[in-house]
Amino acid sequence: MPEFLNPVRGFGVTFATMFKKVLTEEYPEVKRPVAPRFHGRHQLNRHPDGLEKCIGCELCAWACPADAIYVEGADNTDEARFSPGERYGRVYQINYLRCIFCGLCIEACPTRALTMTNEYELADDSRESLIYEKQDLLAEPLAGMVLPPHPMPAGMDDQDYYAGRVTSDMAVAAPASTEPVVSSPPLRERARRAPTPLGHRGATGHRGNKR
Ligand code: SF4
Ligand code: SF4
Repeated sequence: MPEFLNPVRGFGVTFATMFKKVLTEEYPEVKRPVAPRFHGRHQLNRHPDGLEKCIGCELCAWACPADAIYVEGADNTDEARFSPGERYGRVYQINYLRCIFCGLCIEACPTRALTMTNEYELADDSRESLIYEKQDLLAEPLAGMVLPPHPMPAGMDDQDYYAGRVTSDMAVAAPASTEPVVSSPPLRERARRAPTPLGHRGATGHRGNKR
């Protein structure tokens, strides 16, 4: 094509593009489904009766290359049981300012307490709201589950949970004296809450208690 026609040639590209299939994503009105194994927000799972799967072992925190997880375990008692067995995760934080969504933490978890959802809308304009606390990460209870603390079913121990012998219809109601547990608020409502006092440690940029 002669050189003096180059400007017209440029418009030719524009003209041809007008008839091509539009690739624009109408996000956020239309959300494309992600791959089933997409690494999104973490979730702390529950056993079928509602007890928490997390045993507060900190293996996820040790496995994290970004030092984004902070865990503090505590002992279950007969009066207040949150998970089967001896220990539960009393404090659990994930700092999404640090997380690189590599998934090493969920590989390290021995009880499959920690998994990753497909939720990817995590952007926020507040640093505090990107530190997710345990109540932000705990799975919503399914039908038949009873929110902890509550006892294990009679005659059952932690091994029965891991062998799959505990089902939702065996859930034991919490004793009348125990404090009610508030389920996690929807993610969109949590962002503007007051920052949690993290004390001298926490997932805010410290090196935690593991190094
Ligand atoms: S996904 Fe990776 S970076 Fe994020 S908390 Fe887990 S181990 Fe750490
Ligand atoms: S999420 Fe899993 S690895 Fe992390 S503290 Fe709980 S049980 Fe341990």
